[in-house]
Amino acid sequence: MYPRIVINLPKLVHNAKTVTSFLKARGISCFLVGKVMAGNKKVLSRLASCGFTYLADSRIQNLIRLKTIPLPKALLRIPMPSEVNLLVDWVDLVLVSELETIRKINQRAENRAKIIDIIVMFDLGDLREGIFYKNDYINLIEAILKLSHIRLRGIGTNLTCYGAIIPDTDNMNALVAIKQTIEEKFGIVLDIISGGNSSSFYLVDQLPDAVNNLRIGEAIFLGKETAFGTALLGCYQDVFRLEAEVVEVQDKPSYPIGTMTRNAFGEIPHIADQGKMTRGICAIGKQDVDPVHLTSLDPAIAILGASSDHLLLDCRKKVTVGDKLGFRLDYGGLLQVMTSSYVHKKIMKNE
Ligand SMILES: *Cc1c(COP(=O)(O)O)cnc(C)c1O
Repeated sequence: MYPRIVINLPKLVHNAKTVTSFLKARGISCFLVGKVMAGNKKVLSRLASCGFTYLADSRIQNLIRLKTIPLPKALLRIPMPSEVNLLVDWVDLVLVSELETIRKINQRAENRAKIIDIIVMFDLGDLREGIFYKNDYINLIEAILKLSHIRLRGIGTNLTCYGAIIPDTDNMNALVAIKQTIEEKFGIVLDIISGGNSSSFYLVDQLPDAVNNLRIGEAIFLGKETAFGTALLGCYQDVFRLEAEVVEVQDKPSYPIGTMTRNAFGEIPHIADQGKMTRGICAIGKQDVDPVHLTSLDPAIAILGASSDHLLLDCRKKVTVGDKLGFRLDYGGLLQVMTSSYVHKKIMKNE
């Protein structure tokens, strides 16, 4: 079935083990952030035995689907109040920032005779989730510690998501200062200090000792850290390959003919006149993945654009209808194709 995403499982397992053993040697535990796999059980159950402490996802549906995987489950996205009941049944640990939601979780957990672990998120300047680090957090922590069915496991931060702020020793030290303040003020020990995602990877050797956890997705799946996009030593960058089938190859002009208006997506196209062109069409489109996320694996084939169901190509070599063409995906593209029910998932168990 095409289009399909070919997943090289042995390479992925290798990346996962490389990342977890690298971090473990530096005293850092690792959550497996599987959200880019859209809950794919075959892939994630294989990764579960690669040295991770939690299976983490933003979507509770994925954690429920993956419930038989023998790792505790962590919910990454600050929970919706409306998902608290599900959360208490299916999630072991949750990242939080809102007292009202935490109270709701406590209430439900009490009804279900459960204890829910939480990590309180701090915003160190990236301006996505968490309590802004300069605001008061003592009252929040005090209120949390009064709750009978909530266990405060630690604090965490998330960087390089909205504001594209990279982790550095300044913001990591700010996180550690928060930990020390909380521990001293309340006489408690926070056992998880979670220093971020794949963008913190480059900083691992300079992280303050107190930072003892990272939540890693992209570095494992694409073999790259995300602060600078550098390939990780000993990891594969070619775990995934998108394949699409050619349905038309014809010689045509490169510039449209007639009066130009907006295209199917309401945009005015910017098209360069490159003279005559051999144009190919693959049966994949924006309903599967936005072409900005794709790179052609063949340098003689260039991506021109896409509509919902057609990917348009400039073919500078012989291409035949029925050929299967390969593409590399970035993180956003991988997320889209894994989420699309129109893209077949082909898992290679051997290299
Ligand atoms: C997605 C996510 C991660 C993992 O990010 P990567 O860049 O894929 O490593 C970590 N923490 C949170 C809260 C996330 O939402």
